[in-house]
Amino acid sequence: MKVKLSKLCACLLFCWCCGCSQSASLIPSINSVHHEYGESVHEQNYHDQHLINITYPKSQKTVLNEEIQARIAYHRQRFEQEYKHASTPQLPELNIDYQSYIKDDRYISIKLDVFSSTSQPQEQIETILYDNQKDCLLSLQDVMSEEALNLLSDMAKKYFQNHYPDECYTRQFAVHIAPSAHNYELFVLRKDALVFYFPSGTLFDYGVSWEVPYEDLADYIDMEKEETAVFVPYQDVLNEPIKNIDPNQPMVALTFDDGPTRKYTEAILDCLKENQASATFFVLGSRADDCPDLLQRMVLEGNEIGNHTFSHKQLTTLSKENIEEEIVATQESIHDVTSTYPSVIRPPYGSKNDAVMECAQGKKIVTWTIDTEDWHSKNAEVIVNKVIKDVKDGDIILMHDLYASSAEAAIILVPKLQEMGFQLVTVSELYEYGKNDAGKIM
Ligand SMILES: [Zn+2]
Repeated sequence: MKVKLSKLCACLLFCWCCGCSQSASLIPSINSVHHEYGESVHEQNYHDQHLINITYPKSQKTVLNEEIQARIAYHRQRFEQEYKHASTPQLPELNIDYQSYIKDDRYISIKLDVFSSTSQPQEQIETILYDNQKDCLLSLQDVMSEEALNLLSDMAKKYFQNHYPDECYTRQFAVHIAPSAHNYELFVLRKDALVFYFPSGTLFDYGVSWEVPYEDLADYIDMEKEETAVFVPYQDVLNEPIKNIDPNQPMVALTFDDGPTRKYTEAILDCLKENQASATFFVLGSRADDCPDLLQRMVLEGNEIGNHTFSHKQLTTLSKENIEEEIVATQESIHDVTSTYPSVIRPPYGSKNDAVMECAQGKKIVTWTIDTEDWHSKNAEVIVNKVIKDVKDGDIILMHDLYASSAEAAIILVPKLQEMGFQLVTVSELYEYGKNDAGKIM
């Protein structure tokens, strides 16, 4: 099994230690507080026998609120039973705090950190995964297949053996790293990664967390896709990541035609991701199968895939029946790989006639407003200058992810355009914000 462990960068979010102190400061000290969802509510209940401090997120979602309240009630009840029998010289305390994460417009994760000190100081973690689209709670089994659990266990084992070389050969470790759902039930879906929590007394005597970037899961899907199910079912994470597009600021759409290609499309995707930018890839149906992982990355990372026909024929020379074939076959080959249908079409050479318009069946036909002629110059500097010289709000920039020079130009252009104040969005986003109709035929 080949897994890119080196790329996992599975860093510790925090590490807390039980038993070294008996104060409430045992609550995991987290450098950055993530309150991405809900309104923070704080309740304090102090009297001479105990202290209760609870902070939790409240939202419009009844199902989620009720679950949070139920978990809090459970800990509160347990605490109240315990402190009555406690013979501690200190004031018994219950502290509950939280982190909340929005993965995208569908998944919301809540992590509750529970600390109680009665006779014994205790730390516990609760995680809740809420499906904002279906208005229900999800468990690990809902977002992962059983095969994925085996792989996950293997990856976690390697990670911890690398990072805690002296502590991973205990019976305790073997039990809690095993591929059972229970061992991996504490997790959150962040924007960029799945994070698993292993509280104190599970893997080690202290709590640790383990972070797996989604891109590593995407790589895996491609590498072993015949034999293993998808990690997080692809259909479930198709939603556009949340983007902060300011409709009042200038925006342009970079577009790349004729790909994907392993070498250049991947480099462009890396650059877009690094700069939190989006682009549109007008993919050939005949090439969709070449790099399915790259197409999946496009969607998962918030880019758009457009239809550039199946075999790159000039549509205006074809019969209506053949035009339809070119378009439909491409829609299907892209759907096979990504579970999404493109909503934009760019006819090869930008050439269209009435028959092409009819065959588009409501999908937008998109051309461009800046032609970099990258196929002609094959020179990154020339391409960059051509864009920088003319670019204005609402432009659609034509390039091809077929050439090293185009990829090089894209790597220069993405941060450069951002520096110039342009937001890099997809063509559909450009239309959504009413910025441009120039490249749109219908
Ligand atoms: Zn083309």
